[in-house]
Amino acid sequence: MATKRLEHTRNIGIIAHIDAGKTTTTERILWHAGLTHRVGNVDEGNTVTDFMPQERERGITIQSAAITCTWRDHQINVIDTPGHIDFTAEVQRSLRVLDGGVVVFDGVAGVEPQSETVWHQADRYSVPRLCFVNKMDRAGANLDETVASIQDRLGAHTIVVQMPIGREDGFSGVIDLITMQAIHQGKELAEPLVGPIPDELTEEAAQRRDAMLESLADLDDEIALLYIEHQEPDTETLLAALRKVTCDGTGVPVLCGSAFRNIGVRQVLDAVVDLLPSPVDVAPMEAISLLDETQRVTCHPNVTEPLAALVFKITTDPYVGKLSFVRVYSGILATGDTVYNAALGSTERVGRLVRMHADHREEVEEIRAGDIGAILGLKSAVTGHTLCSQDRPVALEQITFPTPVIEMAIEPASRADADKLAKALHRLGEEDPTLAVRTDERTSETTLAGMGELHLDVIVDRIRREFGVVVQVGTPKVAYCETITRPLTVEGRLVKQTGGHGQYAVAEVQFEPTEPGTGFAFENEITHGAIPREYIPSVERGIRRAMHEGILAKMPVVDIKATLVDGKYHEVDSSDRAFEGAGAIALREALERGGSVLLEPVMRVEIVAPQEYIGDIIGDLGSRAATVQGIEPRATGVQTIRADVPLARMFGYATTLRSLTQGRGVFTMQFERYQQVSEETRKELVAEVA
Ligand code: GDP
Repeated sequence: MATKRLEHTRNIGIIAHIDAGKTTTTERILWHAGLTHRVGNVDEGNTVTDFMPQERERGITIQSAAITCTWRDHQINVIDTPGHIDFTAEVQRSLRVLDGGVVVFDGVAGVEPQSETVWHQADRYSVPRLCFVNKMDRAGANLDETVASIQDRLGAHTIVVQMPIGREDGFSGVIDLITMQAIHQGKELAEPLVGPIPDELTEEAAQRRDAMLESLADLDDEIALLYIEHQEPDTETLLAALRKVTCDGTGVPVLCGSAFRNIGVRQVLDAVVDLLPSPVDVAPMEAISLLDETQRVTCHPNVTEPLAALVFKITTDPYVGKLSFVRVYSGILATGDTVYNAALGSTERVGRLVRMHADHREEVEEIRAGDIGAILGLKSAVTGHTLCSQDRPVALEQITFPTPVIEMAIEPASRADADKLAKALHRLGEEDPTLAVRTDERTSETTLAGMGELHLDVIVDRIRREFGVVVQVGTPKVAYCETITRPLTVEGRLVKQTGGHGQYAVAEVQFEPTEPGTGFAFENEITHGAIPREYIPSVERGIRRAMHEGILAKMPVVDIKATLVDGKYHEVDSSDRAFEGAGAIALREALERGGSVLLEPVMRVEIVAPQEYIGDIIGDLGSRAATVQGIEPRATGVQTIRADVPLARMFGYATTLRSLTQGRGVFTMQFERYQQVSEETRKELVAEVA
């Protein structure tokens, strides 16, 4: 029974470039699955998956939530993935909890830069997927060209299992090349009309079926054998082979339709059931044992194993408050359970559990291995935390989040707003680990740091509307940072004799620069009590605190390793505080003498534009200190430029590109690496704080 239940579960995500039609597709999927009674329309701003008001206004999906629906006796959990590049951390997080994905493409635009980014991320997390070529009703929609771009740009081995009936405005249905039936979807009808292939399309359908079989034969021996012998596989054999190659990720089935016109949506649901893996079909999750960190623990999707669940999303529901979305990897999460939070080292009681449907919340007693649901009012856990059984404490792998590259000062309008702002920031920080909040201890100025201009925009918007806080914000600025360039050993010496109790702490610390993105590492090599054990964490704390502000331009210090090698203490005058002070002094000393430099984020920018504008775009990039990495043809007459550009030079680029290309160019950017700032920028930054 339990296994059947699991085999009849699908945890899927709808993955897409913004505007490809992800919201509409999700919407229609939920509608067809019978759980919403109206068809929402993004253009009118009343969709079911988008929770927050500004998503409706912007028409983009920012938050990911999980919604459960039922199709052909299968429970399908649809995990919403954000489409904008600024929120890739959310995409990554949701990709980890998915077992399969439906990637939506715009049948006119084909593969767009951001589809590529999410596709490669899905590759990284080995998420089996199928493609849905949407918007087949639009002028210029072309299945074959889109498929070609999926092959060329994404390197996917496609198996096209459908063909369109009619073109553009006349698009009225699809032919299923597996069953060789024509499926028409009337505008208002939930049930499609299934019938024989129209005469004028039989020849094309036969050719396309042959192409499908040939493509599948490349990957599956059984089909290959039948193909060579000119034998027709039956539907069952075909589906089994397709399922196998989809689940192992070697092949990608392609479907087509128009979500807007309800064409092909039910077939997407069928394909999810028939072709995408259930939780038992994917490799079990690996976790780190907290009893012995060198040990791996495999968390099987089995209810008899101890609990291991990952909090992958926290949202705030206007009616019930905080919702912590979890995927249970093993065991059972039940109401009233006391669970262990591995990251905090503390336990917490699970109150109510819910499953979110498109139009209602369902209270449940338990969430079992392989399933997804939400905990109501869980207090301390934040996104990325593991909830487990105390008998088997584990950490499901931590997610690595991209570096926040942009920051902005934020100021409450009044004292009352200050309290509300603190609460709002706390809540938002729980929901979104890519948001960093820093408060200057002396000026008590608060700074938000995030992944891009839009990211911070959305955060500020939420602070204002959702939390009702009146705030003023500064202009967004690049988040620079500081690091050392050579290893050195320094002595942090805090010796103060101020009458009465003095302060005494000496810490000898070896500092070295580490790989970009590593942040900070601390190691203690003192074994013989040169500093008593209880003071060693104080040294680390002191260094960490001092890292908030470097010496050149008050920028945070990153990518260093500190090894405590020796030290001195005093029976009476040493204290935690003294050793913290010594740690801070050691860091400053290291920055003074370690060849400290300022670093700036460099973005990988990808611009897609018609050929005739390429010259102007390159010229403009030149004035932005860009390094062009490559120019490639993309589709007929369209080129892609890849360039690395300091983020500081990218402000307002959207407007520039629009005017350079008469609105026909698009670009995306993503953090690539840090680089040392130019001498000119260094001078400017230093002068700003002088
Ligand atoms: P998302 O940004 O990927 O979530 O995309 P949306 O679902 O918000 O769709 C973007 C725009 O494309 C909206 O204006 C939709 O009405 C429109 N759209 C979505 N699906 C289709 C379709 O099948 N055909 C046409 N013509 N337009 C569509």
